[in-house]
Amino acid sequence: MTSLDKADLQLIEVAKTLIALRSKPEFHEVGAALRTRSGKIFSAVNVKANVGRVSVCAEAVAIGMAASAGDTDIERIVAVDQKGRVISPCGMCREMISDYAPEADIIVPGDNGLEVFKVADLLPHKFQKMKT
Ligand SMILES: [Zn+2]
Repeated sequence: MTSLDKADLQLIEVAKTLIALRSKPEFHEVGAALRTRSGKIFSAVNVKANVGRVSVCAEAVAIGMAASAGDTDIERIVAVDQKGRVISPCGMCREMISDYAPEADIIVPGDNGLEVFKVADLLPHKFQKMKT
């Protein structure tokens, strides 16, 4: 675990600003922002649907944006709710973040305020496909 720096606070603000702008109950309730090692920031909202299982988390949409730009070496990522509170990524997002950037850091609410953890520390025993 490490503590937050000025760039992390900026990343949180990007996510907060986006969800404040795009919040739409039942469609967009979470904002995420990620910073890659190249210094680029990608931010996105979640995409909900009436058929719940096709809904996509904000982190996944942000990773898709980064992938579309060819820049998935994620350094740090954060998600916030509609009130701008930092929230922990779900298990599926932890898996996806780990797939694309095993060294990524995630900003999460911890026991002593906001904390930064390596994705591997938040995802012990990551899913592994069986080798045939
Ligand atoms: Zn998720």
